[in-house]
Amino acid sequence: MNYNVNEKGYYGEFGGAYIPEMLYPNVEELRQQYLSITAEEGFQKEFRQLLRDYVGRPTPLYFAERFSEKYNTKVYLKREDLCHTGAHKVNNTIGQILLAKRLGKNRIIAETGAGQHGVATATVCALMGLECIVYMGEIDIKRQAPNVARMKMLGATVVPATSGSKTLKDATNEAIRDWINNPVDTHYIIGSVVGPHPYPDMVARFQSVISEETQKQLLEKEGRERPDYVVACVGGGSNAAGIYYHYLNEPEVGIIAVEAAGKGIDTGESAATSALGKMGIIHGSKTLLMQTADGQITEPYSISAGLDYPGVGPMHAHLFASGRGEFISITDENAMKAGLELCKLEGIIPAIESSHALAIFEQRKFKEDDVVVLNLSGRGDKDLNTYINYFNL
Ligand SMILES: *Cc1c(COP(=O)(O)O)cnc(C)c1O
Repeated sequence: MNYNVNEKGYYGEFGGAYIPEMLYPNVEELRQQYLSITAEEGFQKEFRQLLRDYVGRPTPLYFAERFSEKYNTKVYLKREDLCHTGAHKVNNTIGQILLAKRLGKNRIIAETGAGQHGVATATVCALMGLECIVYMGEIDIKRQAPNVARMKMLGATVVPATSGSKTLKDATNEAIRDWINNPVDTHYIIGSVVGPHPYPDMVARFQSVISEETQKQLLEKEGRERPDYVVACVGGGSNAAGIYYHYLNEPEVGIIAVEAAGKGIDTGESAATSALGKMGIIHGSKTLLMQTADGQITEPYSISAGLDYPGVGPMHAHLFASGRGEFISITDENAMKAGLELCKLEGIIPAIESSHALAIFEQRKFKEDDVVVLNLSGRGDKDLNTYINYFNL
């Protein structure tokens, strides 16, 4: 079996491009050009140089000695928390803005929920001097004031989405509407491995630098390119796609995906899509989706804003359905404990998203000589208030 996208834009039965007819020309332009443009020598040179000098790559692969001792196995952390802007998201926004420039686009739009993708997009627009419009639900604008301020400081216009539940899905609808109305000069930067083909594959390729580096770094440290397991949290699935990418078709590497159980899978306040979702269509892609019996999207819940998404990307839906990936869900409570534990054991304050991945070691045992690479997707600065309120710090 092949776990990469096929030429029709599918991963098994998931993926495709289920879009309104008026969006077709934009998506089709991208589909026809993304592979040839990103393969150009000039593109690769600029992309690699910015990843090195601006983002700070390669990020370290760090052997977490005290954490490993506690769980009696060998745990390496891929330190995406050390990227400029504090998480892996910037790998993708750099790639997409370089692509947008080569397509002759001078106006960038994006949607954002918690604001992390909005900040990563505003950052690269400032870097390139391009106009940036970020759609964000009115409720999210109130909840995520520091990220709204960051986007404004970086020169972006933040437009409130005032329809529906005034959150991420409504912001996405506004962004799509904008793109339909501005097909010629505008590129839409999607923030995860979601959306119509070619977005999931394009974003996965930009994030694949994570496992590309891991192969080299592990060879240096362990004498082999392949760990026994790669582990990542999954919201839409982009940091996970990055750490899995070069191991997807190597069956000796176990793939572990960690979803947010929220308050518990059966509580109605959860974001564990593989456990609760059914096949459906979201953001132009056929994938696993949390929905009601008559097909309405269910509001997800997680303490972590980045995992609070009702679907997963089609790559992950296929990894789940085919059995290639092992899916584990982690509650708010266990994630918060694991985050605090990493602080005490390693002196690293993780993003709450990443804390979900760290929490699996309490419930999933590994062999003593297993090499487990965990993608530490981001740092915890943005989550300080949540940590403060949760632990009464
Ligand atoms: C956005 C975010 C995530 C979730 O997004 P993916 O596309 O699933 O990677 C995870 N961790 C951090 C730190 C994030 O900012």
